[in-house]
Amino acid sequence: MVEFELIRRYFSGADAAPEVLLGVGDDAATVQLPAGQRLVVCTDAFTEGVHFFPHAQPAAIGHKALAVNLSDMAAMGAQPLAFTLALGLPAADEEWLRGFSGGMLALADRFGCALVGGDTARAPVYMATVTVLGCLPAKAPAMLRSGAQAGDDIWVTGSSVAGLGDARLYLEARRGTVQLPDLVYRHSKARMERPEPRVRFGQLIRGVASAGLDISDGALVDLQHLLAAGSGAAGVALGAQIDAGAVLKGVFASDCTQTLWRSLPERQRLHWQLDAGDDYELLFTAAPDKIKQVQAVAQKTGLIARKLGVITASGSLWLRYDDGSVEPWERQQSEVFSHFG
Ligand code: ADP
Ligand code: MG
Repeated sequence: MVEFELIRRYFSGADAAPEVLLGVGDDAATVQLPAGQRLVVCTDAFTEGVHFFPHAQPAAIGHKALAVNLSDMAAMGAQPLAFTLALGLPAADEEWLRGFSGGMLALADRFGCALVGGDTARAPVYMATVTVLGCLPAKAPAMLRSGAQAGDDIWVTGSSVAGLGDARLYLEARRGTVQLPDLVYRHSKARMERPEPRVRFGQLIRGVASAGLDISDGALVDLQHLLAAGSGAAGVALGAQIDAGAVLKGVFASDCTQTLWRSLPERQRLHWQLDAGDDYELLFTAAPDKIKQVQAVAQKTGLIARKLGVITASGSLWLRYDDGSVEPWERQQSEVFSHFG
């Protein structure tokens, strides 16, 4: 199959939207920003063997390659409009392409995000780099990583079927470090492969939150990015006190995984739920007097906002247990993912 035919068959026809003046087929696309809006743009690369298992379902790969980008839009409080796709293929495998484009375009359709162009080339492994174009009201501030203040509450989104560490369980099951009952295995696999971007929540929380980002590397890893960004802006070393008691009580777990989590040693549980995982939830901070507004946004979006702790001026992360004891949080350095060692 020639490249032109491949693009026509699998990647065109998903560009009909009022903002799209010119979609797939010309040298570039043109997209009209809605009146009074400014452009927000993000890119995430998605590579076989690095970001997804070679055996993953093509539809799941397509879904996630776009979902992680929509999650970045959510983390800015932006509205996605359109996206481009740079695709690397070892071969023009029709079954793979059908699955991949099906998974990607179904998600795009749900979020009203048009595929307006891209590039398709041969590559040693499957690669999908998505760039999303979104918008924000010209005068409204985006939800930034900086802006947290000592005393702010720390919140994490979720739902009864979306808990912290769900996706991590799938990874550990594949590594053989934990045995999962069939139902939990399938649940954690779905959470790993098909994260649901919290776009609407991000838009509604934008003016309420003092800072925010999406969780891609684990709640506490990403919280540390937020603390670092906030410290520079505030001129103090921000830290946080994390409610380990709530985690151990199951507050952050999905219904499906509660029993399994309870069967694990506390250390391991804290580590897997808090310190590592493709959660793709939003983590944000808000002044304590914003609690009603936070809960109202959760209710409007059908999600749960769970309080993870508070921002402090201590410069470090502490865990707080229900008996009142506290201890410093030690990262397991071997677990910190880095592309280049
Ligand atoms: P060029 O030679 O200008 O790079 P291409 O043959 O790569 O043109 O692309 C032709 C058209 O198809 C362009 O409009 C491009 O944006 C679009 N396109 C190419 N690959 C993809 C893809 N994977 N998804 C969506 N559109 C694509
Ligand atoms: Mg090209």
